[in-house]
Formats: sequence, structure tokens, C-alpha cells
Amino acid sequence: MHASQNPDPRQDAILSPYDGSLVGHMPVSEEVDVEQAILTAQKGFDMMRKLPRFVRADILDRTADLIEARKDEFVRLIAAEAGKPLYDARGEISRSLLNLRGAAREARAFGGEEVPLDIDGAVFEYQTASADGSPLDLSKADLATLNGLGRRIGIARRFPIGPILAITPFNFPLNLVLHKLAPAFAVGNSVILKPAPQTPLTSRLLAEVMVEAGLPEEALTVVHCDVPLAEKLVRDDRIAMVTFTGSVPVGWHIKSLSGKKKVSLELGGNGAVVVSEDADIAFAAARCVRGGVVYGGQYCIGVQRIFVHEEVYDAFEKELVARVEACKVGNPMEEGVDVGPVIDERSAMRIESWINEAVEQGARVLTGGTREKAVIAPTVLTDTKPDMKVEADEIFGPVVTLTKVKDADEGVRRAADSRFGLQGGFFTNDMKAAFRALEDWDVGALMINDVPIYRIDTMPFGGWKDSGLGREGTRYAMDSMTDIKLLVVNYG
Ligand code: NAD
Repeated sequence: MHASQNPDPRQDAILSPYDGSLVGHMPVSEEVDVEQAILTAQKGFDMMRKLPRFVRADILDRTADLIEARKDEFVRLIAAEAGKPLYDARGEISRSLLNLRGAAREARAFGGEEVPLDIDGAVFEYQTASADGSPLDLSKADLATLNGLGRRIGIARRFPIGPILAITPFNFPLNLVLHKLAPAFAVGNSVILKPAPQTPLTSRLLAEVMVEAGLPEEALTVVHCDVPLAEKLVRDDRIAMVTFTGSVPVGWHIKSLSGKKKVSLELGGNGAVVVSEDADIAFAAARCVRGGVVYGGQYCIGVQRIFVHEEVYDAFEKELVARVEACKVGNPMEEGVDVGPVIDERSAMRIESWINEAVEQGARVLTGGTREKAVIAPTVLTDTKPDMKVEADEIFGPVVTLTKVKDADEGVRRAADSRFGLQGGFFTNDMKAAFRALEDWDVGALMINDVPIYRIDTMPFGGWKDSGLGREGTRYAMDSMTDIKLLVVNYG
């Protein structure tokens, strides 16, 4: 639940990024609240780790049921505070339900393994001999002696590691939070959640729902605090792990502050797509629009750079520009809108300045390129260069670059030439080229005949290079939020 100790805490007004209208108020957590959050999380951890698996699983299943029952409320809140089009907000709910129910299923199944120990006679004898024992001659040992040698068993069990600090971004205010909460609770951890400052109301509503579903109040504390207090939490030795989703510079900075804690980083990138000569052009263009400009391009795994085989370039450009221009731009709270605002006017101004800088350096705008308050018109650029910001850095806006390449190999080379490596897309029917691409292109996942925004929440997910550290996805996050203790029993 929310952490404020103060009976009359300062409140932040949370405003719609589209029109500045008031969405709600969120109490601000002060230093005393943050200290209390740590004490509560320690208590919550002691409670959670002792709960039987079925209780933890039931809490997650019931949370899914309650969110489903209040789906419209969640959809409208996400659309309002994040400026997310309704279609995408509904998609986020579906993914959240999958996320919770997947974690409930895994909570019931998650366990350790038996570790075979009787695998080498000489080592076994060496490891088990007493100081004055005479060596056993294995060549002469009878069956009864050999049977006795096997009577040690190793059981590797996984245990929750302790309070987890989850820091999350604005763009999926429910599902990216659940990517941390669901596996943490599935394995018996407690969580302090610091949501994005723009979208804390969804986190608060989620916390209420989880307590209603049976989560002990102490297991989850939401802190809506400023960056210095968030950094204090990151540094605190009573926290066992920091799981962060957000931008690249902030992520690596957090890692540098976190001392001996476990750290998981889900960061950003400049996602690329390669379109080869045998691709289904209409489908590839449609998916690039979905992954590149819908929801203002605010996907960590969005499409930013598109490399197209010269033989199909003209057809692809025509198809892409037509589809981008067909996108409905406007109020995210209205049905049928594809592109609303980006998260705030400051971000929109930054995106606009990157477009203008590229144009000054020789890029051409095929469509879009304009801004109205926080709304950037869906934009296609061409004649860009690898060192322009619109290619080299993460734009996180509804902007794609389109580049002609002589063949798919050149496309993959250009796509892979990046300091980021989250996910990639390769439209090809040449399976040899697909497997070669996976070897040469360092990304967490490569989508063949699709764009990089494809994600099912149970799959392993994470970045290479600057894009991150570790893997999320239900089962993989559960691994990272636990550690192994081995029990060796001599029963011979
Ligand atoms: P951000 O990095 O600005 O903020 C993320 C969170 O970190 C917020 O809660 C913020 O308040 C907090 N924060 C900022 N500075 C901090 C500090 N010094 N110490 C502690 N906490 C701090 O990111 P954003 O603008 O909210 O989100 C967009 C970014 O997130 C993009 O780069 C996008 O690619 C990335 N992202 C990654 C994934 C993924 O799964 N890999 C998913 C969604 C978004």
C-alpha cells in the first residue's frame, strides 16, 4: 500500500499528457516514508517467505480476476495518465492478466532439483574419506560397498532473497510493474515499488486490488518519491535486489549505486527491422507502423530503423508512408485513435529537435515531422546516417528511419551495428539467412517475419550490450529473485 506516514501528505497533481486535464492526486513520499517502507518490506518478507505456494498463487490468480472485473477502470486510468490509446491500454490489460496467471501457475510448479553426487568413484572416495582412513580400492570393492557409495543426495532449492526494490517507467504503468511484482510474490519476496512520476495512480490502484486479493499489506509499498530518495533506496543495504525498467543512462547509473545487490536492468534501444526481397511487403509495412509509430512509438522494443532490400525498396516506401499517413492521431481517450501524445511536451520538443537536426544534416522527411504540443505527427525519415541521433540514440517517439540496402546481409550488418541490443525483426523466408542473422546480431530476441515489439510475457526478455542486464519473463524473473541453497544428505 502507499507509504505516506504523514496524515496530511503533500499531493502531486497527475495530469493528462494530451490536454493537461487533472487525472488525480498522488501523495508524495518523504524521507520518513521511505525509511518506513524499508522496515515494512522487511516485515513483509518474513510473512511472504512463509506462505505456502498455493496461497501465493491464489493471490496472483485473484488479482487477475479482480483486474478483469474492473477492466474498464484500469483501461481509462492508463489511457488518461499515460496518454495511451484505448486499444493499447486494453492490450496492456490482457497482457497483465497473462502475466499474473502465468506467475500463479509457475508459483505452484517452481522448485529446485536433485543434484547427482555419485558420479566419480575416485572423487567420491577422496571427498568422503576420514583423515586416517585407508583408501578404498575401487577395483576390488564389492557391490554392497559400491551401493553404499551412492548414499548421498544433493537437493538444490531456491529461496526468495529478500525485499526487492522495483523501479518502473511510464509507458506500461500496469504490465511493466507486474513484470516485477508477479514473479516477486510468486517466489515469496516483498516489494517496494517506485513507479514513474507520470503514472503512479495505476500502481496505487493495483496495490489496492492486490491487498483485496489477499496480499499481506506489508508485502507491497508504493513510494512516489523524488530521484534523491529513490537513489537512497537503491543504495540501502537492507534491499536485496533492484529490478529496474527504464532508460539506458538511468539504468546503468542505478547499477553503479547499488553495491552488492542483485541488479536487473530492462532498458531501451534503437530497434531495427530488415526487409529482404522475398518479404510480404504489405504485411511488413503494416507491422512496422504498429511497432514504430502507434502509441507515439513509446515501446522499448519499438521499430526505429528500417533497412530494406533495394529491389523492393520503392514498393515498401510507398506502402509504409501510406499506412503511416492513415494513422489516426488525436485524443487517446477516443476510440480508434492510433497515435496520441508522447508522455510530455518536453519529450515532444526533444523529438522534434532530433528530427530538425537530422534534416539540417541531410535527412529528408517523407511524411510527418511536425509537432503540436505533446503530439508528434507520425514521421518517416530517409537519407539518414548511422551517426545522426535519430539512428544512433533511442528516439522513443513516432519516428522511423528508412534506408535502402543492397541485400539482406548488409541490412543485418547495419541493424546490428548499434550499442543497443534489445530485440530485432527480420522479414525473410530464407531460413539460412535467419539463423546466420541470429549469430551476427546481438539482441535478446530476433523475430523472423515480424517486428521487435512482439512479446509474450512468459518468454525470456532482456537486452544485450547497453540495453540491459539479466532476463525478465515470468520464470526467468523468478530465477533472478531467488538464490540457491544446496542440501547434501549422507544417509549411507
Ligand atoms: P526513466 O529512466 O526516465 O525513468 C524510469 C524510472 O526511473 C522512473 O520511475 C524514474 O522516476 C526513475 N528514476 C529516474 N532517475 C533515477 C535515479 N537516478 N535513481 C532512481 N530512480 C530513478 O524512463 P522513462 O522515461 O519512464 O521510460 C522510458 C524508457 O524506459 C525508455 O528508455 C524505454 O526504452 C525504457 N523501457 C524499457 C523497457 C524494457 O523492458 N526493456 C520497457 C519499457 C520502457
